[in-house]
Amino acid sequence: MEAFLNLDLLSNPWLAILFLGPVFYFLEKKFPYNKKNQNRKLADTIEDLSWQLGDNLYSFLWFPFYQILTVTILKFYMDHIHYPLAGTLRNRFDYDLGQFEFIKIHMSNVYVQFIVLLLLTDFLRFVYHYLAHVYGRIWKFHALHHSPTVVDWLTTSRVHFLESLLGFFYMTPVLFFFDIKPEVMAWIAVLELHMNLFVHSNINIELGFLKYVINNPKAHHWHHSSKNELEHGQNFSSIFIFWDFLFKTYYMPAQEEAPEQYGLANADVFPQNIFKRIFYPLT
Ligand SMILES: [Zn+2]
Ligand SMILES: [Zn+2]
Repeated sequence: MEAFLNLDLLSNPWLAILFLGPVFYFLEKKFPYNKKNQNRKLADTIEDLSWQLGDNLYSFLWFPFYQILTVTILKFYMDHIHYPLAGTLRNRFDYDLGQFEFIKIHMSNVYVQFIVLLLLTDFLRFVYHYLAHVYGRIWKFHALHHSPTVVDWLTTSRVHFLESLLGFFYMTPVLFFFDIKPEVMAWIAVLELHMNLFVHSNINIELGFLKYVINNPKAHHWHHSSKNELEHGQNFSSIFIFWDFLFKTYYMPAQEEAPEQYGLANADVFPQNIFKRIFYPLT
């Protein structure tokens, strides 16, 4: 039980690929959502796994720098903004604001922490994802994830490591302002990884009313459609799908049939060579 709940193991994408991959593979063969979407090429599998490896190596190299950067920014904020501002207000109102630690939001109940941070980080991901589809500059980081023409559980791995770096930046404010237990962030990471595998899988699953709450393969497969059904695309959610309902970016045909085609609408401008793909966001 102890080992089963080990967060390091549960949040390890390689263990998920190794142990859950065969389960997804079987379910995709047995209950496919899109029957025309079952012929993954070996070259694509090798490329997906390479991006997964690249992401892990890169995070490993980048993380110490990220920690130094975070501490530096936090120190700058405390020295030049937080304390001077508290001091100014104190002088003006003769009121000691310094006694309130208003930089950190404390939530003593760990379950409340989990729910609040899950909603907040999921919303930030939704906003980032929408912006990645609207602005060409960010799209260049995200285009790789939309390049496969066969979408299944392993498409989860196809994310540019520079896009993961953007994630560090927009998640940082959350870490600044909340007093978070590390296990809470780890549980969120575990949930994100497994939801990601689930929504990319080509499994025909009927969730009933939960399809209005939780992201699911049908919704995310429509996100990967090569055709935009709405102005900038559709279904940008990660874990909870209600963000798309709330911001009117949800799309699903009446019969819930699968998209005709996946991939990039303008695939010809996206490099075919993996090495050129690495530098594409910087061009
Ligand atoms: Zn996208
Ligand atoms: Zn996706």
